[in-house]
Amino acid sequence: MNRDRRITKEELKVAVNEAYIKFKRNEEGRNACYIPYLANVNRELFGIAVCLPNGEIITAGDSNYRFGIESISKVATAILVLKEYGTETLLDMIGADATGMPFNSILAILLENEHPSTPLVNAGAISAASMVRPVGNSRGKWEAIRENIAELCAGELPLIEELYKSESVSNHSNRAIAWLLKSYDRIYDEPEMSLDLYTRQCSLGVTTKELSIMAATIACGGYNPVTKKELFSRRIAERTTSLIASVGFYERTGDWMYSAGIPAKSGVGGGILGILPGAFGIAAFSPPIDNAGNSVRAQLAIRHIMEQLNLHIFSGERALIVEDEKN
Ligand code: GLN
Repeated sequence: MNRDRRITKEELKVAVNEAYIKFKRNEEGRNACYIPYLANVNRELFGIAVCLPNGEIITAGDSNYRFGIESISKVATAILVLKEYGTETLLDMIGADATGMPFNSILAILLENEHPSTPLVNAGAISAASMVRPVGNSRGKWEAIRENIAELCAGELPLIEELYKSESVSNHSNRAIAWLLKSYDRIYDEPEMSLDLYTRQCSLGVTTKELSIMAATIACGGYNPVTKKELFSRRIAERTTSLIASVGFYERTGDWMYSAGIPAKSGVGGGILGILPGAFGIAAFSPPIDNAGNSVRAQLAIRHIMEQLNLHIFSGERALIVEDEKN
């Protein structure tokens, strides 16, 4: 029995454009207001990009606009730490469990027996930043973080200085998290330095197109289809996608996986990256977010594309994007 589901590139393009037009005027959600810079980004911006395993990118809207990567950077640094320490050590030092709680939850740390849970929530991400090598060397760590994100996105990401300043003066709860983790021996370098690295990585500017390349690299088992470089192992790709599937939308992850059927990770800057293993990497961006911190238009767009093309990851079929017409 053939378990492949063939989707033509044309069908994918139609679904992407349809999603763009359908949700462009959606007025739900509000820009993140707890970080002053994000509150002032134009709320009308909206971009979608899908990167295929051959490196081709299908886009709609503002896919070249540069915005704060925010929590999507957690995925990149998790990959870096997985490369440096291996999959088992990450499980031991940080964990891979869903918290079911908001991204900056302190209660989650207490309930998980003083454990950061997963590198994809703030606690685990600060912990991951503390693990990045060379330990004890802030500049060396920052270079490693930036270089890794640049390789994933096929382009150097600039630091949005204004965003970095804005976050640095308003990240009090993250500082509390860093020091709480320190008291549980879950910060593996200097806490203030680890917090600063985390804040800086969140303030990198990325485009929707670049995010789709990062997503495609994970979807292709560590192979960047644009630069044609093998960046990490299949094992790391599968574990990263597992982390995303279980906690990518924080307390809304279950609802999302159930309905959209694609492991996806959000950032409060309005970006979302989704991974359909073997098929494509998708990204969407629009600043207004819901109360769990996930972009409203980006969620609607990705879910629409998944539904239109019947691509749910648990459908029992393997999606293949093909050039020719379906017969
Ligand atoms: N920098 C933000 C924070 O730590 C990132 C949160 C997010 O994107 N969910 O609060």
